[in-house]
Order: sequence, then C-alpha cells, then structure tokens
Amino acid sequence: MPILNDDQQHDPNKILPIEYDWAREYYEAGVNNNWVPAEIPMQDDVSQWNGDALSPAERQLIEWNLGFFSTAESLTANNLVLALYEYVTAPECRQYLLRQVYEEAIHTDTFIYCCDTLGFEPEYLYGMYDRVPAIEQKDDFVVDLTRVLDDEEFTIETDADIRELLRDLVGFYVIMEGIFFYAGFAMMLGLKRQGKMVGVGEQFEYIMRDESLHLGFGVDLIDQIRTENPGVWTDEFDEEVRDLVLEAVDLESQYAHEACPGEILGMGSDQFVDYVEYIADRRLGQLDQAEAFGTDNPFPWMSEQVDLNKEKNFFETQVTEYQSGASLDW
Ligand code: FE
Ligand code: MN
Repeated sequence: MPILNDDQQHDPNKILPIEYDWAREYYEAGVNNNWVPAEIPMQDDVSQWNGDALSPAERQLIEWNLGFFSTAESLTANNLVLALYEYVTAPECRQYLLRQVYEEAIHTDTFIYCCDTLGFEPEYLYGMYDRVPAIEQKDDFVVDLTRVLDDEEFTIETDADIRELLRDLVGFYVIMEGIFFYAGFAMMLGLKRQGKMVGVGEQFEYIMRDESLHLGFGVDLIDQIRTENPGVWTDEFDEEVRDLVLEAVDLESQYAHEACPGEILGMGSDQFVDYVEYIADRRLGQLDQAEAFGTDNPFPWMSEQVDLNKEKNFFETQVTEYQSGASLDW
C-alpha cells in the first residue's frame, strides 16, 4: 500500500500487518527515549541566571536560543498536525507522527519550564522572533515551504503535488529540525561543557536526541516517497532542494554570527558557521547529494552527544549514556 494519500483504498485504522518496518522502529526508539523536563533540576541554572556567573554575551546567547526554540517547537508540531498528517496515510507512519507530535509537546513544555524557572516575561521570550530578524527569517523560511499544504483545497493528485509535500518535508525535517536547530544545540551544549546553565543544557541534549530521530524518520519518509513515485524527484527539483539547503545555511550562519557576536568560552561565531556547514553537508548526503562545503567538524564532541549520520546505527547507540539518569527510570 502506498505511503501517501491512500485512505480511499485502504483502511487507515488497520495498522497490522506493518508494511513500513522502519516507521515502527522509529516509534519504538522514540518510546525508549521518554523524558520530561520537570525532572531536570534547575537550581544551579537559576542561581547562575540571577547572579553574575554569566557575561552579557552569554546571557544574550541563552536568551536567543530559548527564544528561537520556544516558538520553533510549536511551529514544527503545528506543521505535523495541520499539514502533514492528512497526507501521510500509512498507519504506521501516522503512529510515528503521533509520537513525534507528543515529543514536540514535551519540547514545548521544556521552554515553558525554562521560562517559568528562570523568571522570563512570557511576552519577552515568546516575542523574540518579532524582535530578532535572524530568528524571524528562519521561521518564515520554513513556513513559506509549506503554505500550499495549509490550503483547504490542496490534494495530492499530480507529481507537482507530491513535490509540494516533499518541499514541506525537506523544510521541516531536514532544514528546521536538521539545520536550524544545530547552531543552537552547539551553543547550549558548549555552555554546558563549561558548567554554565547545565540544567538547560541537559534539556537541550534530550531534545537533540529526539530531534535526531525526527530527522531520521523524515529522511526515510522522503526516500520512501521517492521510491514509490519514480520521476517525481527530477533534476530540477534536486537543484531546487539543494538551493534551499544552501539558503538555509546562509540564514543559520547569520543567526550564529548575531547570537554569538564575539568569542564565548573559546567558541567563536566562525566555528558555529563551520559547524552549520559541516551539518549541512551531512544533510545533503542524506538526500543523496554531494557535499557543498567539505568543512571539518569544529566540535567533535557534538557527534559524541548524538550522532547524526545515518551510517551510524543510532538504534544501537542511543540510550546508553542516558540510562543511568534517574529521570529515565520510569
Ligand atoms: Fe522538537
Ligand atoms: Mn522535532
């Protein structure tokens, strides 16, 4: 049964027998990663935030990342529910989408928790995209890729319609969750490595672990659609997708420069830009495209955190380093 748009021919409520085993595996991997933000202590973060442990530049970097992620997580969840869910009809894929939406709710909850414990004005934190153009541009960029799917009239009939859906998948899975989150991950995990805002950093680690599954699912979904609809991924579309990824790298590099204008704890904006390029090359590879940058990973410790390469089997490596945490003992 085809993965898309098939609820006329097959009953979308019959999940067994499973046809797409990979979708089921992502679901199980997601369940193994259960966590909630409230189990991560924030006392040290609160005293650092209210004391003088952090430089003005570090404070700005933290605020920007909390500001970006606080709305980006809801944006992602809304895209899944309001745009994607209708068209991806294979039941086991929908089961994973439901799991992912739940994880996005956990991520949204993380920023509620951070906002509350650190004492932010909600308007201040959640209005960040209105005041910071580098954030607004990232949000607008992915939303623009998905506008057609929001249209009530949109249905998937032609190859061009499938490409609209693929554009959404590239936009949200590969670019939003796969590129736009990564400068922020590196910044917050870099701070944590230096003992700054360790609670928030740990929450970002859990989010990053979830996001690497989301990204993996998105890439496999794109592959499956390509396989089932030969001819849809034309050379022209391939070129378009590449341009989107390269444009996203520009936006994320600009974000990195502005969020981290100077040198923070030995990490400078140039390194974050290198990291974004390194990540983008991995993403292009996942889309069967050639590297664009050839940049070395400036933060090898990031790959130890969560490996992003498909070649590395994350199903084997995922939980080990977290299993000792009491918060995962359900
Ligand atoms: Fe998320
Ligand atoms: Mn996600």
